[in-house]
Amino acid sequence: MQADILIRGAEVIDGTGRTAFHADIEVIGAEITRVGQMPQAQARHVIDATGLTAAPGFIDVHTHDDWAVIEDPALACKITQGVTTVVVGNCGISAAPFAPRENLPAPFGIVPRVDTLSAPTVTDYARRVTEAAPAVNVRLLVGHSTLRANAMKDLDCPATPSDIETMARQLDHALTEGAAGFSTGLDYPAASAAPMDEVVTLARVLARHENVLYTTHIRDEADHVIDAVREALSTAKTADVPLLLSHHKTCGTRNFGKSKTTLAMIDTARTDQDVAMDVYPYTASSSALLPHFAEAAPEVLIIWSTPHPDMAGRMLDDIAAEWGLTRNEAIARLTPAAAVYFDMDDADLDRILQHPATMIGSDGIPGTPKPHPRLWGTFPRVLGHYVRDRALLTLPQAIHKMTGLSAARFGLKTRGIIKPGMHADLTLFDPATIIDRADFDHSEEVSHGITHVLVGGQITLQNGVQTGHRNGRFLHRA
Ligand SMILES: [Zn+2]
Repeated sequence: MQADILIRGAEVIDGTGRTAFHADIEVIGAEITRVGQMPQAQARHVIDATGLTAAPGFIDVHTHDDWAVIEDPALACKITQGVTTVVVGNCGISAAPFAPRENLPAPFGIVPRVDTLSAPTVTDYARRVTEAAPAVNVRLLVGHSTLRANAMKDLDCPATPSDIETMARQLDHALTEGAAGFSTGLDYPAASAAPMDEVVTLARVLARHENVLYTTHIRDEADHVIDAVREALSTAKTADVPLLLSHHKTCGTRNFGKSKTTLAMIDTARTDQDVAMDVYPYTASSSALLPHFAEAAPEVLIIWSTPHPDMAGRMLDDIAAEWGLTRNEAIARLTPAAAVYFDMDDADLDRILQHPATMIGSDGIPGTPKPHPRLWGTFPRVLGHYVRDRALLTLPQAIHKMTGLSAARFGLKTRGIIKPGMHADLTLFDPATIIDRADFDHSEEVSHGITHVLVGGQITLQNGVQTGHRNGRFLHRA
């Protein structure tokens, strides 16, 4: 039988963490059918992969693409990085099950089109994704703050027992419909009033389902980061569910070095509890403009402001000086707004990146002007800067953190590894030249070195150019 696609002569890094091997990859329909030396094999389409590395398509485990996959289904920012699956619904906000309303507190304002593109059930959301036909696959987490917004009038207080019951019922139903887990964003006004008990009760709903996890943007990533990690470990342990600490970091000069403590806590916990992390490869964070985030950051770059759009691209301290205001007075005048916070230390980032339980997730925020460069550069930056230039990780280790490890964590049983029978989500790149090109001045530059991307056996990127094929699926948890 003639194959559909034959990738010939690649250095294959299969996603398990094992070293590269030289092989051809045969694809029929949506599946990888053979991996090995196949000099006689023929195919409708042959990709000459001489000098290229073939990896499983990258899984971006931390995104806010819930709405972008519908509004901008070509998703150039993902495909040009080699990403073939995105996990959405992070940090407590998800597009489903959600009945949006006016004036919700941060972080609801950080992503555009939340009001028009959200869906009342996971089934409705999956249908919208299918109709939009995004270029990448979509795995959904249910956001705690989203459930709070559905169930509660004011979000600045703990949920009542009856609110919690309403949220638990919605979460349980969403998991039945194919959501993959539950996320919180306890560092934000929409959920910071939620005590640990509220979260534990909801996380316990997960224990009724298989192949699910609890992910959390912890209560504090700055002065109280150690307490916040302790709370997350304890929450997951009490609820008896696997834990993923989102975009792990320690912010603020006086907290530099605290990752030694947090990682030691995580290592100890891992002896009897399932704990993982994700991280993005930058020492600047980005989110809504909030006083407590700015407090930990020596420098703050405004990326957009609704009342003062002309302040986009300028530093907060310069704006405050010009207006004759304190930082917090300037923040109040600029809000609603979003910012980049230069608030981390390289040594902490290196340490977290190297930890064996850490996966790569961009935390990119699409659809706004001047996004943090992580939206366009995360995966090539790890492979070019951290693997090739700095040798912080080997190439197979880094690929594992983008593929096999991530797929296992998120229950993606037929993705993340190159072997026969798996979905043909594949990324080809040149390991000698791969590099991110987006920076804080030019934040939407396409990365260099990703040559081909296949999603479900369809060629989506060919010689660095998008083909127009959009073959992503909503991935129900099975
Ligand atoms: Zn977050």
